[in-house]
Amino acid sequence: MKNILMIATGGTIASMNTDAGLLPKLSSKELLESVPEIGQICNVTQIQPFNLDSTNIYSAHWLEIARIVEENYRKYDGFVVTHGTDTMAYTAAALSYLIQDSPKPVVLTGSQKSVSLRDTDARRNLLDAFTYCADEDACGVRVVFDGSVILGTRAKKTRTRSYNAFSSVDFPETAVLRDGKVVWYLKEEKPQAPRFYHALENSIFVLKMIPGLSADIFDYLSEHCEGLILETFGSGGIPGYDGEAFCARLTEFLKKGKTVVVTTQVEREGSALSNYEVGRKLLRCGKVLEARSMTLEAAVAKLMWCLAQTKDQSRVESLFYKPVERDII
Ligand code: ASP
Repeated sequence: MKNILMIATGGTIASMNTDAGLLPKLSSKELLESVPEIGQICNVTQIQPFNLDSTNIYSAHWLEIARIVEENYRKYDGFVVTHGTDTMAYTAAALSYLIQDSPKPVVLTGSQKSVSLRDTDARRNLLDAFTYCADEDACGVRVVFDGSVILGTRAKKTRTRSYNAFSSVDFPETAVLRDGKVVWYLKEEKPQAPRFYHALENSIFVLKMIPGLSADIFDYLSEHCEGLILETFGSGGIPGYDGEAFCARLTEFLKKGKTVVVTTQVEREGSALSNYEVGRKLLRCGKVLEARSMTLEAAVAKLMWCLAQTKDQSRVESLFYKPVERDII
């Protein structure tokens, strides 16, 4: 039987009702005990570095999870990370950059309802996550949820209540779990050896455009961030009102050596800046990167990963555009 390390981090899956609202309270041991069938699939050791609602999880926790995986890499055949669903897609994306080319699986799962409730999806998701993790052909960072196996760079939470909370955006699910078995749709060739990274740049900002947004926001951004993700409308572009103030301020921002990644607020199919005048104008403001088909979560994590390695614009550009786990197509 395979040996799997379960890394429990909190989330609804481990939550109990309290006077203050739902709070992660259950230990990793209690979680495991709720699905005794897992013992027939693999040997599990558990560790619980923290027990948080995933709203509280950020880069320090991603680095901590990656460190636990790295330190235990030789000892185990795979890793299951239980996690809140709210920011699971960010954690999955971040782990995809921090742990690259892993021949062993790192599987994230959680649930929409606490494992303590009768109609919970936690038991199924846990069992599926361990079943997938114990599969001979599993590798890389994946989200297993509601029977779907999704690349860590392609997962997005698209429903707040339903059991099928996650979608695989602009890329197919690589497998599904049916009747306790993994049914493969896309079998990856296993990489040889993992590469671990140990740093992320935190001063990243996502600016979601709204109609009429003032370019004065750059007063703040220039002072406080190294990397900006500009979530524009549709195929992408910037407004020309206020005497082209947006373009002027963006140009200034870029001249300070900051990195700008342009993406779209539309969930699927990515940006295409050269389609419209508003997009071409943005391209003339200076050297910006395009997230193309990347999810916002992957773009955020990748920019944090790139800028932790270098602030040199051309190196950032080549790192950003180099595909990692089908993140950019
Ligand atoms: N607020 C919870 C969390 O992300 C939601 C969940 O797990 O479904 O930790």
